[in-house]
Amino acid sequence: MVVKIAISDPEEIIDLRITEVAAFLNKSRRALAVTGAGISCSGGIPDFRSSDGLYNLVKARHPGTVLKGAELFDATLFKDPNRTKCFYTFMAELKTLVSTAKPTATHKFLRDLQESGRLLRLYTQNIDDLEAELNLPVVQLHGTMATVKCTLCSSSYPFTTEYVDAFRQGDPPICPKCEAIGEERSLLGKRQLAVGTLRPDIVLYNEEHPNGDKIGLQQCSDIKRRPDLLIVLGTSLKIPALKKFVKLAARTVHENKNGITILVNKTAPTKEWENVFDYQIIGDVDVWVASFLYEIMINCVNCDTNSSRSTNEKKNIFESEQMLTKKNSI
Ligand SMILES: [Zn+2]
Repeated sequence: MVVKIAISDPEEIIDLRITEVAAFLNKSRRALAVTGAGISCSGGIPDFRSSDGLYNLVKARHPGTVLKGAELFDATLFKDPNRTKCFYTFMAELKTLVSTAKPTATHKFLRDLQESGRLLRLYTQNIDDLEAELNLPVVQLHGTMATVKCTLCSSSYPFTTEYVDAFRQGDPPICPKCEAIGEERSLLGKRQLAVGTLRPDIVLYNEEHPNGDKIGLQQCSDIKRRPDLLIVLGTSLKIPALKKFVKLAARTVHENKNGITILVNKTAPTKEWENVFDYQIIGDVDVWVASFLYEIMINCVNCDTNSSRSTNEKKNIFESEQMLTKKNSI
């Protein structure tokens, strides 16, 4: 049976469902989590594929070039110098936001799952790298804004403010390694080879994932470990490869007698997901997760022996999560 809940439902219905779902979470020992843009919004990162603010900044800087959101993230953009300039400017603005963003209540909820020995793996579509400071077992499906890489030799470098400044002007910097090889060849009187430029280390539409094979192997290995819970947070699951994996993961979870699947997202899933998720929870993921945290903490007082935190410490964390959620919803 599919249970559909909206955060706007009456409190008594929500409370009942929270208790049910929290009980499943507490029992889980091998949870798979899948996350998307919805979990980073309150941390300071808008859903940039549909963010008017960022696009307007780019339009102001490049008034002659009109781009739709998806076109800025399509690998064909490198064929057009004007689109390429827009892309780099956009990436500079996005990196500036990412640099000041903070993990949200949902990131910290995932950290608690991890620390209490329940989280098998987190697959994220987010490129903001907010998982890094929480030491989560994360697989970044679309790359990361933490680094830049060479378009030619694939050398990787930290995405520093120096590179942000160059990107903001629409000019990709030359790859230091390619440049050094060029200088060496010049000294030796050898002919010059092509040099690469740096781009964000993210995966664009119509572009093969450089770590695709590795991710595929990781997914197979996680499925073989027979996950007992699938929780999808803050994504509408529109990318075909991810859809396939989520459906496979859900089937595997359902082979377990007590396995359940949960989706929490602002928008209701399409019919395609009707029999995939047992719980469809519609609303702000941070608000929902903050409620979960409270329930989990109450239930964990006697059962959570794996966690390194005391109950009082957890309560303090919960209170700070609540303050954060309230502050961000104002
Ligand atoms: Zn290079």
